[in-house]
Amino acid sequence: MSKTVRPLEGKTALITGGSRGIGRVIAQALAFEGADIAVVSSGSGPEAADVCREIAAECGVRTAHYRCDVSDFARTREMVDAVRSDFGGIQILVNCAGITRDGLILRMKEEDFDRVIDVNLKGAFNMIRHCSGIFLRQREGCIINISSVVALRGNPGQANYAASKAGLIGLTKAVARELAGRNIRCNAIAPGFIESSMTEGLSRDKITAAAALGRIGRPEDVAQAAVYLAEASYVTGTVLTVDGGLAM
Ligand code: NAD
Repeated sequence: MSKTVRPLEGKTALITGGSRGIGRVIAQALAFEGADIAVVSSGSGPEAADVCREIAAECGVRTAHYRCDVSDFARTREMVDAVRSDFGGIQILVNCAGITRDGLILRMKEEDFDRVIDVNLKGAFNMIRHCSGIFLRQREGCIINISSVVALRGNPGQANYAASKAGLIGLTKAVARELAGRNIRCNAIAPGFIESSMTEGLSRDKITAAAALGRIGRPEDVAQAAVYLAEASYVTGTVLTVDGGLAM
C-alpha cells in the first residue's frame, strides 16, 4: 500500500506567536498537512514546549521552540539563522505574533503606540527581512501576515493596533511585488473577532451582532485560511478576510 504524501511534507513553517491562540492552531494545521514546525514566542512559560510536544506526537513532524522578541532586529536574525540550521531551510513564514495596548487617541501613551507598532509591524518586517535571503536562495517562499479587519474599517480605542495592522497590508503588497519573480509569495489574513485571550474581555453580544454569520470566529477558521494560502501557488499580494461577514 502506498503512503499518502501530505501537501506540505518536506517544508518547514516558522510561526511567530505560535505558542497559543490563533498561532497555535495555525501551527497544528500546517503540521497536519505535513510541515515541520518552528514555534516562536516571547513568553517564558511552558506553553510553547507543550505545543511542540503535542504537535510532534499528533502529526509525526519535527518541532522546536525558539524564545524571541520579534521586535528585536538582531535577536530575530540569530533566531532565524538557528531555525534554518536546525531544520535545513524555511519555506513558510507566518507572522502571527501580536499585541494590543488599547486606549482612546486623546489619552494614548506614546510608549503604547510605539510598542504596538514595534511588535505587530516592525516584528513582521524583521522576520521577512531575515527570511527573504533564505527564500531567495531556495527560490521558494511563502509569507503569511496576520493582519486584522480593524485595518480595513478602524476601531475606536485601537488607533495604534489598526495602524500596525494596516501597515502590515502595505508591507504584504510591497513584498509580494518585490519577490514574486523569485517564486516567493506574500499574503495577509484579516481576521474578525476570534475566540482567544486577546478578545476575552470583549462583549460577546456586540461581536456576534456585528458578524453577518452571527458568531464569533474560531482560531480554526483562521488556520483554514493559512493552510489555503500556504498551498495556493497562484495567490500573492492578497488580503483574505476571515471575519464572518463583518467588514463587507
Ligand atoms: P494571543 O495573545 O493569544 O497570542 C499572541 C502570541 O504572540 C503569543 O504566542 C505571544 O507569545 C506572541 N507574542 C506577543 N508579543 C510577542 C513578541 N514581542 N515577540 C514574539 N512573540 C510575541 O493572540 P491571538 O488572539 O491568538 O492573536 C494572534 C494574532 O492574530 C495577533 O497578531 C493578533 O493581532 C491577530 N488577530 C487576532 C484577532 C482576535 O480576535 N483574536 C483578530 C484579528 C487579528
